[in-house]
Amino acid sequence: MGNRRKLLWQLYPSYLVITFVSVAAIAWFASAAVKTLYFQSTTDDLKARAKLIEEIIKWQLDHDHAIALDKLCKELGPAIATRITLILPSGKVIADSHEDPAQMEDHSIRPEFKDAIAGNVGVAQRYSFSVHQEMMYVALPVLEKGDVAGVVRVSVPMVEVAAVLNRIYLQVAAGSIAIVVLAALVSLFISHRINKPITALKGGAQRFAEGDLEYRLEVPHTEEIAALAEAMNTMAAQLHSRFSTVTSQRNELEAVLSSMMEAVLVIDASERVLRVNQSAERLFDTPAHRMEGRSVREVIRRTDLHRFVEKALAADQTVEGDIVFRGAPDRFIQAHGTPLKDANGSRIGALVVLNDVTRLKTLENIRRDFVTNVSHELRTPITSIKGFLETLKEGAIDDPENRERFLDIILKHTNRLNMIIEDLLTLSKIEQEAERKEIHLEEANIINVLEAVSKTCKNIAEEKNIALLINCDEKLAGRINPTLLEQAVLNLVDNAIKYSDQGSIVHLDARASDGEIVIRVVDQGCGISREHLDRIFERFYRVDKARSRQAGGTGLGLAIVKHIVNAHGGRIEVRSSPGEGSTFSIHLGRPKE
Ligand code: ADP
Repeated sequence: MGNRRKLLWQLYPSYLVITFVSVAAIAWFASAAVKTLYFQSTTDDLKARAKLIEEIIKWQLDHDHAIALDKLCKELGPAIATRITLILPSGKVIADSHEDPAQMEDHSIRPEFKDAIAGNVGVAQRYSFSVHQEMMYVALPVLEKGDVAGVVRVSVPMVEVAAVLNRIYLQVAAGSIAIVVLAALVSLFISHRINKPITALKGGAQRFAEGDLEYRLEVPHTEEIAALAEAMNTMAAQLHSRFSTVTSQRNELEAVLSSMMEAVLVIDASERVLRVNQSAERLFDTPAHRMEGRSVREVIRRTDLHRFVEKALAADQTVEGDIVFRGAPDRFIQAHGTPLKDANGSRIGALVVLNDVTRLKTLENIRRDFVTNVSHELRTPITSIKGFLETLKEGAIDDPENRERFLDIILKHTNRLNMIIEDLLTLSKIEQEAERKEIHLEEANIINVLEAVSKTCKNIAEEKNIALLINCDEKLAGRINPTLLEQAVLNLVDNAIKYSDQGSIVHLDARASDGEIVIRVVDQGCGISREHLDRIFERFYRVDKARSRQAGGTGLGLAIVKHIVNAHGGRIEVRSSPGEGSTFSIHLGRPKE
């Protein structure tokens, strides 16, 4: 930057120098020419005067007319501002306009006299001791009948010639200075005019560089600069359209990335994280700005993932892998790694897409466990039935006492199988209907549901001498499916009776509380210890298998309750401690005012 000079200051001094040198040269040549010309014209003028005088004095140039000639010279000389001298061929001066000829020395050795006596025009320039100044002389021969009768010499002081020349030089100098000043002003103006569009181009280029690509340069009249301005405008337009395309593509990409459920990591060849999307922020519980620009090993402390990134960076094609993020709970990740290449095809990094399949994995586990549990539940009664049937076939059929007993056992197990299958079918039906939103809710009174349950359970409660007490406002109503809700409450009351001792009390009450309908089944039974409370709603989960089977339970009752309550948009809660009984409460949506 330091060495840069403005274009104006590069152009202008050169203009000035060129102008000055040309004007000086012209002035010098002109002055020399004028000088020569002036000398020539002075010489010609003196020649003409000498010629005139020659004509006047012709035939008189001799000693006899000396006085008259001298007088004539003294009259004519001052009148024409010229010194006139008449010289005889011997060199003797017989007349002079300004001096006394008698006092004048012999002129025969004067160069102009010599030339004239030889018949030519004599011209000389020298200092005159007679008049004490520099003079210019012109001498002509006076011819009489072909002979030289004498010489007419005219002269003027050089002072006058010099004065005239000086005047001319002064004018030339003044003219030159005027021209130089004018040229300086004109070249300043021209330099300015050349500079102006270039300055405009510079300003425009700066605005383009600052990102103002919608700005357009004014196209000047100068052809080359106009072409440059047009080229710059075209370039800006193209850049603008490319930027717009890039921006809209980036926005699209942004939208795609942020709406993806999968976590996306863009990693460069040195394992640095270049980009992450929102799902990745959620998966690693770290904001993007703390991951981007740093090594993947530094920001995500998962060795399985590091190994996968290494593999993806080394591979030529898409690689896949399963990664487990250990923790509470474990997370199962399906990973895809695709190499990223630049325009030349060289590898610059990898795109890693991570899909959290924990939920799928959990569902798969639940399904697998369920199949195992169902098989297990069905196997016990079937093995038992098969065993007793074989025993009967092998002869026990003829033993009337055992036969009855065996058939009773077979019937009991068959009923159990039937119950399990019934409960499974109920469960799957509720699940399907809830999924398809086919469960129909209607405005109905809660008391009717509770009383229907009480009626169903009457016998088994009486068998165990258990009192079932209902407490519910008759007007309490809500949007429910009465059949399903009856089934849910029935399961709860059935459990309460099953897991209570003889002679205890089971409370069944319902009320409106905090905008909800709460139906509670409270017993004084064996209770459930804390570690089981979270799991009793799972299918086939039983705290005490033997007691449940003994009481005719399938392990599906509470799972059915939970599904029915969910289908109503409500929730189920349990509070219980061993030996102190249990309280199951169904919370349903807002009751009608
Ligand atoms: P089950 O058919 O075995 O009763 P449920 O799904 O209805 O199956 O209940 C799951 C388990 O929860 C039962 O096996 C039992 O251990 C426990 N349980 C349910 N209700 C009660 C209760 N009122 N008192 C004590 N334990 C209960």
